[in-house]
Amino acid sequence: MKTNYDVIVCGGGPGGIGAAVGAARAGADVLLIERYGFLGGGATAMMVNPFMTYFAGKRQIIHGVFQLMLNKLTAMGAYGSEKAPRAFDAEAFKIAAEEICREAGVTLLYHTFLADAQTQDNQIQSISVATKDGLKTLQAKIFIDSTGDGDIAFFAGADIEKGRSEDGLTQPMTLNFRMAGVDIQRLPSRAEITAKYVEAKEREEIQCPRENILYFFATQLDVVHFNQTRIIRHDATDPISFTLAEIEGRRQAWQISQWLIRNIPGFEKAYLQQTAPQIGVRESRRVIGEYLLTAEDLLSALRFKDVIACGSYSVDIHNPDGEGTVIKKLKPGEWYDIPYRSLVPLKVDNLLIGGRSISSTHEAHSAIRVMPIVFGIGHAAGVAAGLCIASGTIPRQADYRKIQRELLRQGATLGDICFE
Ligand SMILES: Cc1cc2nc3c(=O)[nH]c(=O)nc-3n(C[C@H](O)[C@H](O)[C@H](O)COP(=O)(O)OP(=O)(O)OC[C@H]3O[C@@H](n4cnc5c(N)ncnc54)[C@H](O)[C@@H]3O)c2cc1C
Repeated sequence: MKTNYDVIVCGGGPGGIGAAVGAARAGADVLLIERYGFLGGGATAMMVNPFMTYFAGKRQIIHGVFQLMLNKLTAMGAYGSEKAPRAFDAEAFKIAAEEICREAGVTLLYHTFLADAQTQDNQIQSISVATKDGLKTLQAKIFIDSTGDGDIAFFAGADIEKGRSEDGLTQPMTLNFRMAGVDIQRLPSRAEITAKYVEAKEREEIQCPRENILYFFATQLDVVHFNQTRIIRHDATDPISFTLAEIEGRRQAWQISQWLIRNIPGFEKAYLQQTAPQIGVRESRRVIGEYLLTAEDLLSALRFKDVIACGSYSVDIHNPDGEGTVIKKLKPGEWYDIPYRSLVPLKVDNLLIGGRSISSTHEAHSAIRVMPIVFGIGHAAGVAAGLCIASGTIPRQADYRKIQRELLRQGATLGDICFE
């Protein structure tokens, strides 16, 4: 087993896929390690669906590796349906992600859990990973943290924040589940289902802190996808709390699915097809970097000269402590920039953040965390790492214009930025 690479990307979710492909296409020798036996992270292991918006008005604002994924899914007949234009088939996503990575020359290593990092003089010298063959040490010139939880950054001693400023509580976790055998033509309106759900909560037939019923249609016409359970006051980086969250999520998923079957027209012959392999984690560690992105930056559509990705998804905070969801939207047709500096952690010199745990406040994180944007963030981290390898520099000193130029060459779009 080869143990030394130019770039090691840890975590194979949307951010890690973007990062690994971006770095490899910029010329680096890249290893992508992933704890599960498949890629996708949120998109597969957490069964998150659909892609949230990647448009500002009618203008598509995210391309690059994300567009490669859309092209593959579309070619596989696995993207969108009449009722759900941005839904994708998670099994197809796994295959498409592997193809995209392997076509770019990325080496994949599954069933490999990052467990520690060895740091000296602000440089990560190596990481320790747990495999079926025991503990291994892997080395790279640059590491990209795409674990979503900032695991490498944490092990390497970077500055970390968690949760909202007043009490450190993160957004709740949600165990996604799917029901199959649903007659969707006969479903009552969302408002009617929610009204019955609220009554059932009042009668204590259902114990779930979520205030309404949240579901999406899928690519399969008899399947309904539920983003419904809500597990509050748990911490996805605390092993015991994380375990208890899984157990409570499964209890809620079973209780709600059985209630739907008994009470809601269209569900009479339905069944709980699957709970996600792991509970969905909206928020855990955020890694403090050269720039702390705020909700005000996003909502005012601030332009950054070192923009490396764009997004238009709203600030969307599921109450960390109970019922309620705060949504703050951009003006129609607007988008925001994400600056390169938010991917560059303080203190650790050979590390980039390629996923949802970039340097942002709790509020800004709630917007930039969705999959299309994270693809864009990861892609930029990978390109930056690849260029650093080629020029022998560190991420903090990288020339953002060269990163932008290479991103554009690789098919990304960067809002107002374009080079002749
Ligand atoms: C309940 C829920 C609903 C959501 N709804 C939507 C939605 O409808 N649309 C949308 O676009 N987005 C949605 N999101 C957001 C989105 O799914 C995530 O924010 C996004 O997947 C983050 O991507 P990432 O690559 O940063 O992290 P992840 O997708 O979490 O990927 C991280 C990867 O790293 C791996 N990993 C982690 N730690 C280690 C380790 N120590 N060693 C090895 N591997 C490791 C994981 O297995 C995983 O594959 C939702 C999220 C949740 C939780």
